[in-house]
Amino acid sequence: MWKDLSREWQTAFEEAWLAFGSGSIPIGAAIFDENGVLLVREHNRSNEPETLNKNISHAEANAIRRIDTSACNVREVTLYTTMEPCPMCMGTAVMSNIKRLRYAARDPYCGCVHIKDTEPYISGKGLDYTTAGGEPELVQLTIQSYHELRCIERGCGDGVLRQFAELSPRAVDIARELYADRRLDSYAAQGRPFADVYDEILAI
Ligand SMILES: [Zn+2]
Repeated sequence: MWKDLSREWQTAFEEAWLAFGSGSIPIGAAIFDENGVLLVREHNRSNEPETLNKNISHAEANAIRRIDTSACNVREVTLYTTMEPCPMCMGTAVMSNIKRLRYAARDPYCGCVHIKDTEPYISGKGLDYTTAGGEPELVQLTIQSYHELRCIERGCGDGVLRQFAELSPRAVDIARELYADRRLDSYAAQGRPFADVYDEILAI
């Protein structure tokens, strides 16, 4: 339930919902300092008209590039993201000296957190990068599967969706049910808060 989420997770998911509303990949991120103060909140901007390079306008990288490293202790911040970071965002977090990262859902398609254990340059940095799993993962994979259904309708392949289905068949089933009447598109157009959407997904 939405009320069970911490403020940090609620902030990241609200950003994912903003991305969804613009037709971008629905991923949100937020960075908090060691006292729980919000430093920056961001989202994927791949489908926003002013974005020049749509392939790399990712939530996490967008957020990391906006924090003022002279005004905070970057080694003490925590980055919350609704999806496991891709190679670029993982690299951006590592090179920025972000030691703590939390992601709601595992990404079987391009998630790259595993390199913290396998890449010699990174494995010695003592990174604390972990997944929330559970309800946050189910909700994130649902809204991202819904986005994939939009893409497939425009002619994209279904390879990403098939990988999501292997990880969480339930998320893809819920996404198909919601997509049948374009329910999330309606909710976004109505300006519904993501708190309602989150709980509705879990109730299906
Ligand atoms: Zn990324």
